[in-house]
Amino acid sequence: MPDASPQTRDVVIIGSGPAGLTAATYAARANLEPLVIEGMVVGGPTGGQLTLTTDVENYPGFPEGIMGPDLIQGMRAQAERFGTTFWTEDATAVDLDQRPFRIQTASQEVYANALIISTGAKPRRLEVPGEDELWGGGVSACATCDGFFFRDQHVVVVGGGDSAMEEATFLTKFASSVTVIHRRDELRASKIMQERALKNDRIEFLWDTEIDEILGDKGQVSGVRIRNTRTGEAADLACDGVFLAIGHIPNTELFDDWLDTDEDGYLRVEHPTTRTNVAGVFASGDVMDHTYRQAVTAAGTGCKAAMDAERYLAEMHS
Ligand code: NAP
Repeated sequence: MPDASPQTRDVVIIGSGPAGLTAATYAARANLEPLVIEGMVVGGPTGGQLTLTTDVENYPGFPEGIMGPDLIQGMRAQAERFGTTFWTEDATAVDLDQRPFRIQTASQEVYANALIISTGAKPRRLEVPGEDELWGGGVSACATCDGFFFRDQHVVVVGGGDSAMEEATFLTKFASSVTVIHRRDELRASKIMQERALKNDRIEFLWDTEIDEILGDKGQVSGVRIRNTRTGEAADLACDGVFLAIGHIPNTELFDDWLDTDEDGYLRVEHPTTRTNVAGVFASGDVMDHTYRQAVTAAGTGCKAAMDAERYLAEMHS
């Protein structure tokens, strides 16, 4: 029998991006009175990575596009309208051995009959000298947050995916010039994002190039030490900012003792469901998807997780 104490919920959701908030709306509309532990900092403010982006042009239903934070706010209001409770703190520990599952935050704890994990992913780092020391001193993984500080300066963007193209294009609003440094000679980004960046005359591309060190002066970025991967030739390139857009690492640390991950570290689920290897624990969004990683696919898996949890609870309570 489930614990009947007031601290026990049928559904607790950790994370408040499109996956967690969609799961919340579905669970709330199924009268499961979900609790969302929305976090203090999930790759930025609560609401996940969408809150760090500007225009979202590919979320269905918004023909003119919508700002990322507005989309998240709308999702949150929708979940709240059907009775979702929010705790604006981070989950700091879980125990998935005991039933109901125990979830701890800095100030309180809660027990859950079913747990939905939607903790998203955080920006990958280069792991080169200078990166840690100069983080916040010109090194950033969020052009939307920090671009403003680089008015009339020269910045580099690292990466060849959609994020790199988006960040580079966005940064031309402020910076005098942007250099995209990519380790190959071919972009991974979608055609439309590539074209937008390639035809922007304030963006230059350095192909087949890796960064070996980020250089600084008095705590501020002054340049990057680069190396051509074909010729091995090294050089220093002066710049004022370095924006990393080299992918993400899923936020799974809390669950490492219990949940299986794939070779890239993403939570493993029993496709086509969102069931993890622990019965009653479901995963949705970027923490379990390294293939699509879109707001709409995250929302889709959030919906699936809530429905999977609902079925699990129906069996448990029967
Ligand atoms: P991504 O597609 O995984 O691209 C990461 C890029 O970083 C790749 O070009 C990769 O190089 C490079 N890279 C990875 N590790 C590196 C390292 N250690 N050093 C140097 N370069 C490194 O990641 P993303 O651009 O963040 O995109 C993630 C997902 O979000 C994608 O599905 C994307 O379509 C989506 N997204 C969509 C939009 C939009 O539609 N508005 C905007 C942003 C992101 P290689 O190419 O050599 O592997």
